[in-house]
Amino acid sequence: MSRKLLAANWKMHLNLGEALSLTQDILQQFKSVQTGDYPVVLGVPAPFLYPVAQAVMGHPRFAVAAQNLHQEKYGAFTGEISGEMIASVGAGYVIVGHSERRQYFGENSDLLSNKLVRARQAGLKPVFCVGETLGDRVKGSEQEVITKQLLFGCYNLLAENFAQVVIAYEPVWAIGTGQTATAEQAQEMHAFIRSKILDRYGETIAQNTPILYGGSVRPENARELFSQPDVDGGLIGGASLNAADFARIAEALAAV
Ligand code: PEP
Repeated sequence: MSRKLLAANWKMHLNLGEALSLTQDILQQFKSVQTGDYPVVLGVPAPFLYPVAQAVMGHPRFAVAAQNLHQEKYGAFTGEISGEMIASVGAGYVIVGHSERRQYFGENSDLLSNKLVRARQAGLKPVFCVGETLGDRVKGSEQEVITKQLLFGCYNLLAENFAQVVIAYEPVWAIGTGQTATAEQAQEMHAFIRSKILDRYGETIAQNTPILYGGSVRPENARELFSQPDVDGGLIGGASLNAADFARIAEALAAV
């Protein structure tokens, strides 16, 4: 897996027409700027997985991600969506453990570790999100929090499955707030995460795992963040809803 990767998180925005038009705009914008050839993953609301996957077919660097999955394979779980369903409509990735899922839907590490296993069983590549709150950082416990999220969330995956995981470091205080971690803060945490992966899975997997930064990435700050040696790309929320901004962020990643 290439270490560079850019992912979008459209969250619960857009209707079908808007989603398809944003997809076309993104494909168009990516033709007009130098954005390299690393994978680009669009994290879209569940009803748009199939149509967006269809729209990016024929553009091999583009893939589609669900924003959540259920931990069971199938069953009487009204309103839920399984990894197998997600894979069957042409999505290759799934975001797991986004802080909004942890915060508003009570998703804890036990549940997330089951979701990660299920995602791999369905053949999906998980984008596993970790991040500390402002309170954690003020207390100086951010590394401890991230260690626990990694340890209890994903370290029960076999090496061959962890090798398909993308990590997204998203400090909760920086998501949708306009407040970004400094490039130094991001690098420090990304290097720390890589060292933890090394402890558990060894050098090769640690060196190959993409670790994305997320939290108010904009065209203006992307290049500085991406130029850090352990920042391999971004998980982009707000700015991914604007095709030109998203392409400029992609350009910044291509340039480093
Ligand atoms: C996100 O939703 O994962 C995110 C990083 O959002 P934003 O870029 O808007 O802060």
